[in-house]
Amino acid sequence: MLYDVAIIGAGVVGGLIARELSRYRLKIVMVERSHDVAMGTTKANSAIVHAGYDAECGSLKAKLNVEGSRMMESLCRKLGVKYLRNGSLVVAYRPQDMERIGKLYERGKKNGVEGLEILDTEKLHQMEPSLSQEAVGALFAPSGAIVCPYELNIAAVGNAMDNGAELLLDWEVTKITEDGDGYTLWSGENHLSARYVINASGVYADHVAAMVGDSSFTIRPRKGQYMLLDHDCVGSVTHTLFNVPNELGKGILVTPTVDQNLLLGPTAEDQEDREDVSTTPEGLEKVQENARKVIPSVNLRGVITAFAGLRAVGSTGDFIIESPRQGFWNVAGIESPGLSSAPAIAVYVTELLAGQGLLLEEKEDFMEERVAVHRFNELSMEEKNRVIRENPLYGHVICRCESITEGEIVEAIRQNPGARDLDGVKRRTRAGMGRCQGGFCGPLVTEILSRELGIPLEKVTKFGGGSYLNVGKTREEHIHEND
Ligand SMILES: Cc1cc2nc3c(=O)[nH]c(=O)nc-3n(C[C@H](O)[C@H](O)[C@H](O)COP(=O)(O)OP(=O)(O)OC[C@H]3O[C@@H](n4cnc5c(N)ncnc54)[C@H](O)[C@@H]3O)c2cc1C
Repeated sequence: MLYDVAIIGAGVVGGLIARELSRYRLKIVMVERSHDVAMGTTKANSAIVHAGYDAECGSLKAKLNVEGSRMMESLCRKLGVKYLRNGSLVVAYRPQDMERIGKLYERGKKNGVEGLEILDTEKLHQMEPSLSQEAVGALFAPSGAIVCPYELNIAAVGNAMDNGAELLLDWEVTKITEDGDGYTLWSGENHLSARYVINASGVYADHVAAMVGDSSFTIRPRKGQYMLLDHDCVGSVTHTLFNVPNELGKGILVTPTVDQNLLLGPTAEDQEDREDVSTTPEGLEKVQENARKVIPSVNLRGVITAFAGLRAVGSTGDFIIESPRQGFWNVAGIESPGLSSAPAIAVYVTELLAGQGLLLEEKEDFMEERVAVHRFNELSMEEKNRVIRENPLYGHVICRCESITEGEIVEAIRQNPGARDLDGVKRRTRAGMGRCQGGFCGPLVTEILSRELGIPLEKVTKFGGGSYLNVGKTREEHIHEND
């Protein structure tokens, strides 16, 4: 099969590039090693749309962050993704840190960030009353926002698919060979060819680049651990609360999420392992310590889960968007602010491909918008009644913590890219995201997956591979079978 463009990695970056390219008459394929999309770094991060004052002036990070942040709200509206412009505060706790705040302000202005303001102690506490009394001032960025990263990833891939792009899951690129008119990607014995290849493979981007002989950069994973608190813990916190940044990044933050949870984290721990996303007591203690410092009244008994993600830290210090050979593009080292920048990265990469000879002929029937899964809980009573009349599955609540109905779960399995496992349903609908973490709804969602996918219950997994949820049968079932 010959494609115009093959994208390696269906994270938020690969997904949005595919969506952008799907505006044009092109044959596009995304290949993803995992069982689902949004399984890499995009699954576990702070979910902040950074304003753009943090990156060095003149860097790709600065340019694409500011552009991406400007594009994000309208993109999320088109794709039906949750987004909230809540504003961010970089808070100083010592008078001497105000100097650093001043530098961030100047840098932000040079980067083109709009509306930045330095707040004195009084104004800061008026804006964020639950903040520690030790806070002395802050940088306020009104364009700072929050988004749901995996929703954006899924919606981008789905919209690209609705516009004709293909997605191959469980398809890990293990070898790349060059032929006359492009490249052949290999996944074991399976292969496909493309004239242009985009390497958007996150923490593995240096390994994939090495497959075409490019060793110009390396990627080092940097772990960030988080704790997520239940809805009733958000209290009066409305802004994203950063500390003054240090050499390891933006530091540990406290922020509400678009789903009205409170998110604490991340740590910053360099490691060799590209798969290890375990949490540790020491890491989580650091996260809690920071939360107590920032919001002394924080209710840490409301923790519902802890998790970690890996930043793909590139050796150049900036995003690496370069072509080491005709037709092959690295989109690598996309650490923070990669999520914020992703919409702009997609446009930038498309322009670069065009500059290298890719013909961009616009499609007349490009669908810019995507119908999101119904959010039953957010509908008015009148709308709820109408939806239930049309489809009684919306009258059957499966996840009690988050009030998610069977209708929403079936929709998430049927739409592009459909959920194929328990975690896939969770990321698309929030079933299992609440306080009981799927303890109640997990078995019910498993049954729905089995029915909708036409597979036996024992074949349903938590996240693909061998993560089976039901192994073997109970004695009673055996007795019934032998009746
Ligand atoms: C702790 C933490 C906090 C962060 N906070 C923020 C934030 O608040 N705001 C912000 O803007 N950014 C943030 N980021 C950065 C942001 O999450 C990333 O920039 C973004 O998710 C990167 O997306 P991606 O598509 O490049 O990578 P990924 O989501 O990792 O996608 C890469 C994909 O490639 C696949 N893949 C890898 N190798 C292969 C192969 N050989 N064959 C096929 N597929 C392959 C992987 O399975 C994966 O799905 C944070 C990151 C971390 C870790």
